[in-house]
Amino acid sequence: MVCRHNDELEALVKEAKKVTDEGEVASYIPALAKADKHDLSVAIYYSNNICLSAGDVEKTFTLQSISKVLSLALVLMEYGKDKVFSYVGQEPTGDPFNSIIKLETMNPSKPLNPMINAGALAVTSLIRGKTAKERLDYLLSFIRRLTNNQKITYCREVAESEYSTSMINRALCYYMKQYGIFEDEVEAVMDLYTKQCAIEMNSLDLAKIGSVFALNGRHPETGEQVISKDVARICKTFMVTCGMYNASGEFAIKVGIPAKSGVSGGIMGISPYDFGIGIFGPALDEKGNSIAGVKLLEIMSEMYRLSIF
Ligand code: GLN
Repeated sequence: MVCRHNDELEALVKEAKKVTDEGEVASYIPALAKADKHDLSVAIYYSNNICLSAGDVEKTFTLQSISKVLSLALVLMEYGKDKVFSYVGQEPTGDPFNSIIKLETMNPSKPLNPMINAGALAVTSLIRGKTAKERLDYLLSFIRRLTNNQKITYCREVAESEYSTSMINRALCYYMKQYGIFEDEVEAVMDLYTKQCAIEMNSLDLAKIGSVFALNGRHPETGEQVISKDVARICKTFMVTCGMYNASGEFAIKVGIPAKSGVSGGIMGISPYDFGIGIFGPALDEKGNSIAGVKLLEIMSEMYRLSIF
């Protein structure tokens, strides 16, 4: 599948790029600090399989928090809402994505939603499989069906870099294990979670996943119902309420589409029924969202009237 370069989109990328200097690449995962902060690419994948792009859309990046939507979709289809939402809530937090505070102040002590780290760690612990390899392979095969790209895998360097430095996530795990949110060994959950976050793709692959959500779970290329309609709806709702961390409210006003970001600088956006958007721009704002990526979506939303509200 080729994605056609589009001049109009390139002009928007150029405009949005102006804010990259105000952002910083993530460095708390050491391997992510190597990214070039001035990168910005976008792909738009339409439901009729036309794809438009601007910037270097071949460049790969790791999903980081974007993977939270995909692991959630997988476990929701496996176990259903009742079971999954007994481990993780459905409310936004207003706190940074790795905050521990609500785990202590909420009663019962379960993470408020699956888009924050605590909630995502609980979701990852539900991924089916007897061995670590089986669980990762199960998730990867789902993501390969979503992208229709059998080559998708994870980046070992980024996974190891996060695994060896991620003490706050370990703290979240231990806290939740104490309260029975999961029974797994913390290191096993951390191993799977860091590999999940390190799953690598380019903005075209990401736009294609967005288009599956835009079509309520049906893949525009293969025709396969990869995600059930109801689960796709739940995931999009979480993306609106919590997808951009503690900037989700402002993003809903300024852009107004379901979207999920990750600290590598990726953003997946969805224009319902029409197209998926994949963006990569590693310079982040203070909330951890791609600064130029958000700017680009603001410009696109205004120009093409994308807000669903
Ligand atoms: N792997 C990252 C972490 O757990 C994901 C966070 C993010 O993208 N916001 O810190």
